[in-house]
Parts: sequence; C-alpha cells; structure tokens
Amino acid sequence: MIPNAPDALDRRYDVTIIGGGAAGGVLSKELTDRGMAVAVLEAGSNYESKDFLPFEQIYQAKRFWSGGFETDPYFKFIFIRGKGVGGSTLVNQCLIDRFRPEVFDSWREVSGKPEFNAEEMNKWYNRVEGELQLEAIDPDTFNLNNQMMVKGMEACEYKWKPLRRAQTHCEDCVHCLGGCPLGSKQGTNETFFKKAREDGCEIIADCEIESVEFGQSGTDHTINLTLDGKRQRLRAPLVVLTAGTLGTAKILLKSGLKERLPAVGENFACHPQRLVFGEFEDDLHLFDGSFQAVASDDEQFVKDGFKLECIAGPPITAAIAMGDFGEDHKRKLRRIRHFGALESAIRDDNAGEISLDKKGRLVINKPLTDSDNRKLEKALEAIHNILHAAGAKSTDVIGMDIGLHLQGTCRMGTHPSTSVVDHNWNIHGIERAFICDASTFPTSTGINLVDTVMAQAAMASEKVAEAAV
Ligand SMILES: Cc1cc2nc3c(=O)[nH]c(=O)nc-3n(C[C@H](O)[C@H](O)[C@H](O)COP(=O)(O)OP(=O)(O)OC[C@H]3O[C@@H](n4cnc5c(N)ncnc54)[C@H](O)[C@@H]3O)c2cc1C
Ligand code: SF4
Repeated sequence: MIPNAPDALDRRYDVTIIGGGAAGGVLSKELTDRGMAVAVLEAGSNYESKDFLPFEQIYQAKRFWSGGFETDPYFKFIFIRGKGVGGSTLVNQCLIDRFRPEVFDSWREVSGKPEFNAEEMNKWYNRVEGELQLEAIDPDTFNLNNQMMVKGMEACEYKWKPLRRAQTHCEDCVHCLGGCPLGSKQGTNETFFKKAREDGCEIIADCEIESVEFGQSGTDHTINLTLDGKRQRLRAPLVVLTAGTLGTAKILLKSGLKERLPAVGENFACHPQRLVFGEFEDDLHLFDGSFQAVASDDEQFVKDGFKLECIAGPPITAAIAMGDFGEDHKRKLRRIRHFGALESAIRDDNAGEISLDKKGRLVINKPLTDSDNRKLEKALEAIHNILHAAGAKSTDVIGMDIGLHLQGTCRMGTHPSTSVVDHNWNIHGIERAFICDASTFPTSTGINLVDTVMAQAAMASEKVAEAAV
C-alpha cells in the first residue's frame, strides 16, 4: 500500500478533489498537468498491484463500500461501488463503450448543454482513451460461456459484438472484482492517478469526508474528514466532489444542501442488471478463458430499452449470485461448471432517490417503474430464447437486481429547483464548488458509462481550472 505523506493535510492546495475514482482520476491528472497544486481525498486505501490477492472474501470486504454491497430497504436490489484509489475502476469489468448519439439528445434536452453531442464528445473520448490500453476481445479466445451466447444469438438471429476492455496482457484470472494483480486492467489507479502522482498530485488515502461547510464571497470551504481515526478539518479555496453517485449525494445531504437544492439525491438510476443462469449437459468451464467478451448489438433491443452481456465472476460471487438455499444450492454448486450466465441491463427511468435515515446512514430507494418492468420482461424473454437455442436444459432468473452503473442524484440542469449543478459543473449558487462524477448525468443512458464519466471529467477540468486562477 502506498502511504500518505505525513504533512499532506497541512499544505494548501489550489484544488481539493473529494473521491478518487473514475472522474477523480482524470481530473487529478488534467489539473496537475496544468501546474496546479492538487490534493485528492479518498476514503479507501492506495493499493499497489501486489496488494491484490485472489481471496474473494477478503477483497469484497475491503474494496467495496459497506463490506460488499448495499441494498434498498426491500432487499430487491444490491448496489455495488468500489472503495480505494481508482474507485469503481479498481473493481470494475473495464468494459469501455462510447454513448450512442441519441443518449446525448436526451442529455441536451434535460441539461440544456449544447456541447453534449456526439461530435464534441468524441474529442473528449479520444483524449481519455488515449491514456488507456484498449482491446476488443479476439473471438478465438472466447471461453465456452461466450461461445454459447454467440451460438444462441445467431440461432435467434440477434446481432452481437465483441466487447472492448481497457486492459493489456490480461491473463483472464477472473478476479477483476478484487483489483488486478498484474497491473493489466486500466483503472484510474494504473493510469491517470499514477501520472498525476508522479507530477506532484497529493493523494491522501483512508480519508473519509463527512461534510463540507461551503464558504461564500471568496472565503475558503471547510472539509470535515476522518483520517487515521481522527476527525480533522481541511480549508480549501476550491473543491470538486467526485465521490460517485452515492458518495457525493451523501456528502451534500450531510452538508445540509437539500433545503437549498431539493434535487440533491433525486433522479437516481443504475441500469438494473438481472442475471440468468442456464444449466447445460456439457461443462462450460465458466471460470476459464476470456470470460466477459460478448454483448448484444441489436437495434431492436436498443429500441426495447435493454442490452445483454455475457458474464462470469469468481466462484464465491457466482455462488452468492445463484441464490437458493440448502440442498438445491449444494446441487447447483456441485454442477457450477455446467452453468452458463447472461445478464440484462435496462435503460431505466431516473425514479430512484437517495436520502439519510435518522442516524445519517444512506437510504437507497429504487422503485422499478411500469416502463422499466416492460423492458426487463423483453430482456428476459430474449435471454431465455438465447439460452434455449444454445441448448440449455433449464434456466434460472435471479430474484433481485444488481446496480453497478450508479448515476443521477446531482443532475446537471439550468434551474436550482430541479438540478444540482449548472452547465459548468458548478454547484448552483456556490462559488468554487463543483461536481463532475456520474451523479451529474442528466438522464439514464443504457450503456456502460465509465468512458463517459472520464470524458466528462476531462471536459469539466477546463471549467475547474478557469475558476481556480
Ligand atoms: C463491480 C463493478 C463493475 C463495473 N463494470 C463496469 C464496466 O465494465 N464498464 C463500465 O463502463 N462501468 C462499469 N462499472 C461502473 C463504473 O466503474 C462507474 O460508473 C464509474 O467508476 C463511476 O465513476 P465515479 O467517478 O462517478 O465514481 P467511482 O469510480 O465509484 O469513484 C468514487 C470514489 O469516491 C470515493 N468516496 C465515496 N465517498 C467518499 C467519502 N465520503 N470520502 C472520500 N471518498 C469517498 C469512493 O471510495 C470511490 O473511490 C462497474 C462498477 C462496478 C462496481
Ligand atoms: S481478468 Fe485480466 S484484467 Fe481482470 S484481474 Fe485478471 S488479469 Fe487483470
């Protein structure tokens, strides 16, 4: 683990970034490159590749918030977010997709920001992707689960495409969720943060932010934090929140901003993901080879509001995901190599809401709307068709949804009564305070979002830099 500099909190920084994930990584590099004094405050640790051992029970507890996952009050959802320098890119599946142009149409409509268009965004995608090693998975290396998906899709005449991952010399160890032991995965820990740190950016890890007292009329902001178990305060002339959709909303709620900006915590979306297992006669070697390599590429699916991907995780995660109890569970685990797995993700309505309970803990409400349920039904029908066409004897739909693509809660827009940040990612009515993580996304997108989180952060860095001088 990389230790903090002992005097890191005693210094004065031009820009203080709260949260060291996808957006925080890009922003730290962009601003450090401009010669600014930048600090990043991150609740999790600052790992090196050698810290990533393939023990699921340990890495889930350490590198995910709340020791593994968070749920809604009805236990219909689990939400997963990464904790550590690199944020969710430390633990994600590193699939890199650009948004389709029509997503930006809906973004412009809600946010009123003309720069949200494919031509402009492509410049920013090119900029961040230039810092990553990207690989489309070679069909010759597809594992049997992916081959099964291709076979089923082709039999049903659905279109598919190979996925693109941010990785180099990957050895398909299936432990992406724990952090990459080979330094292959191109999370911001391996890329943007490394460069920013070499150029003088101060990364202060194991430092959890409680709240921010926002200053006005040129006075500093005061950040309330816990470092080494000690409550401390840091004065900052300019802050940028990049603590992720749940983290940023929680900090703003704890900072008392809800009264001023009622949209804080509203408009939450997460592309609810539903897993379906198919049981086959033959062994599918679920854990061997390029395990996540194929996605749907069918225009009808896009119209129907969903996408499909092949999925696998390491054994304990797969066992938890399978659900069930007792003898049934034992039987399935004995035959786990005979199971294939596909997942659907829908472009959901922004109908969720984040709030705090009386003890200041997060409450995540994520109702599925009628329209969401219709999309989910169509997605599950397509998965059943694929699995059966590929030869599955039976299929099992998991009884709860997974939320990994957390977005919304601090939406960008024109008016403080309906949004939290303006076109420049500036919090409405507060000078020198910005948000530029996935929480500002104006609408749900239906597509893997980390590429756009990073592109947006690069875009926002110009506005932050202008405000910092
Ligand atoms: C298991 C998993 C798999 C995924 N797979 C993919 C994929 O393949 N492709 C894709 O496009 N997307 C994927 N995603 C989603 C993607 O990684 C996220 O959308 C993206 O990382 C969000 O970026 P962010 O900057 O908003 O937040 P994050 O990257 O989550 O970063 C937020 C950071 O803020 C820190 N933080 C939070 N609260 C505080 C606090 N109070 N004080 C200090 N620090 C705090 C967190 O610890 C974290 O490091 C996946 C996510 C997960 C969890
Ligand atoms: S599967 Fe590849 S990218 Fe993922 S952790 Fe293993 S080596 Fe790294």
